[in-house]
Amino acid sequence: MDVQDDEKQSCSWCGEDLDTIEIGIDIDQRFSQGICKRCIDHFLFQKGVPLRQYLDSLPWPVLVVDGDAVVQMANAQARDMLGKKDFETEEQTSGLVFECAHARLPGGCGRSVHCSGCTIRMSIKRTWETGEPLNKVPATLTTSDPEAPAKVDLLITTYKAGDMVMLRVDRL
Ligand SMILES: [Zn+2]
Repeated sequence: MDVQDDEKQSCSWCGEDLDTIEIGIDIDQRFSQGICKRCIDHFLFQKGVPLRQYLDSLPWPVLVVDGDAVVQMANAQARDMLGKKDFETEEQTSGLVFECAHARLPGGCGRSVHCSGCTIRMSIKRTWETGEPLNKVPATLTTSDPEAPAKVDLLITTYKAGDMVMLRVDRL
């Protein structure tokens, strides 16, 4: 997949130009991970600002999920995109949060025959297990909205922060 030059230069999380931010990690790591020092600091250490508040300041939908793809937190952009209020997105499987049709099947999110191929789940798991960040992996979601069942194309970006995985979701 083509990655445009300007995408390589900016942080996948806050959108700031990586060149203009003073950072303490080496340049190769910075560009391969696509994250600025400031975001790393906030994701890992909540420097002076509660994580929720920092996430709400980011320009894209970002969720915090654990290794089992259970959503712990969703920023304002994510709640807008998903049309959900805060309480509906916390401590729920990603499948329910995203209205995945398979999450409504017996067994629930992660346990249907479709789930083994779920890009969202696999991306979260891979980053959680290996620490490897992923950048804009295409994923297709089949939503369970009875009014309008639909396939939704998404791009998944991940970064491991402590025990959690930060999940940026772009809707195409
Ligand atoms: Zn950043």
